[in-house]
Amino acid sequence: MAIKSFHPPQRTLMGPGPSDVSARVLAALARPTIGHLDPMFVTMMDEMKELLKYAFQTKNELTMPISAPGSAGMEACFVNLVEPGDKVIICQNGVFGGRMKENVERCGGVAVMIQDDWGRAVDPQKLADTLKANPDTKVVAFVHAETSTGALSDAKTLVALAHKHGCLTIVDAVTSLAGSPLKVDEWGIDAIYSGTQKCLSCTPGLSPVSFSPRALEKIKNRKTKVQSWFLDLNLVMGYWGAATKRAYHHTAPINALYGLHESLVMLQEEGLENSWARHQKNHLALRAGLEAMGLQFVVPEKERLPQLNALTIPAGVDDAALRATLLNEYQLEIGAGLGVMAGKVWRIGLMGYASNPRNILFCLGALDDVLGRMKAPVKNGVAVAAAHKVLAG
Ligand SMILES: *Cc1c(COP(=O)(O)O)cnc(C)c1O
Repeated sequence: MAIKSFHPPQRTLMGPGPSDVSARVLAALARPTIGHLDPMFVTMMDEMKELLKYAFQTKNELTMPISAPGSAGMEACFVNLVEPGDKVIICQNGVFGGRMKENVERCGGVAVMIQDDWGRAVDPQKLADTLKANPDTKVVAFVHAETSTGALSDAKTLVALAHKHGCLTIVDAVTSLAGSPLKVDEWGIDAIYSGTQKCLSCTPGLSPVSFSPRALEKIKNRKTKVQSWFLDLNLVMGYWGAATKRAYHHTAPINALYGLHESLVMLQEEGLENSWARHQKNHLALRAGLEAMGLQFVVPEKERLPQLNALTIPAGVDDAALRATLLNEYQLEIGAGLGVMAGKVWRIGLMGYASNPRNILFCLGALDDVLGRMKAPVKNGVAVAAAHKVLAG
């Protein structure tokens, strides 16, 4: 049997990522492949670093995309900054904090876990207490925007606490970058990683990272070799670093980088602050519709992420059946619950290019229809109008 070309359906992506990719970014991906040491490509890399510095609000020289998804950016931060025996405090309030623990332990570090309720922000008081009880801590790590629950933590306060105790900080900004206010230099973040498929609305597979001069100092003065050859920044810097004659480390994912370049140009055109404001405004419109229907948010209002809306599934509603109907009839993807929240919540993403009025109205209309047909305990016929009101205001 001859296998034919793969033609995916045209979906609307309103889950926890990937988010909708714009035609501009898709077109950029299809441009001619050139060599990864071609002078024209090197110029593009330099622009990319500038664009990423803008997105992260940093002057850090060591700002670049890792050639692999967000999880690899996470791993790059931990393997470079944690040496065997190093104590690392991890503030966990969802799935991704658990992965940080895995990373620390695989580096031979000692993870001290602080647990916060899933669906809540990280509690700074708990961090202050744990730092006091563990004065030998080297690194503090936490997730800025917990995509598994929809909670936003106060990164500025947490980083300040860590610095007061002389610790470096590792921050997961996979879902926050471009969607929520994030200021790497102003807040003093030492190591940060993100992903391309959430609020940057690019294809998955790249992880923008940035390291402060203090973090770089630590990396250069390690007593032990970084356990990962591929992610050892001492080596990667030979290709991405400043003022170096770029040397082969690995072949960059050339066309994927065209896509990221284009999505960052789009971010620059819109303006970072405008992007944050758009995510917030659209969240309020979606929220008005969902609440009019009677659906309830998981996270308290002040700790809510605008780009990831976690809702409690109403009693008696078949989670899998609802999502399958949305996908099959409406070509609409929303997210299921993750970890302990599986089967209990839906996660509606309004990320990047997908955060727009058309998607909000489409999603609310689809939910209204399908939940109505499932005889779910919601109020029908009011959601779209409630969102309209906010969008018009
Ligand atoms: C999506 C996500 C990741 C992992 O990114 P991948 O690209 O899937 O590897 C890590 N942290 C958070 C908070 C995320 O939302």
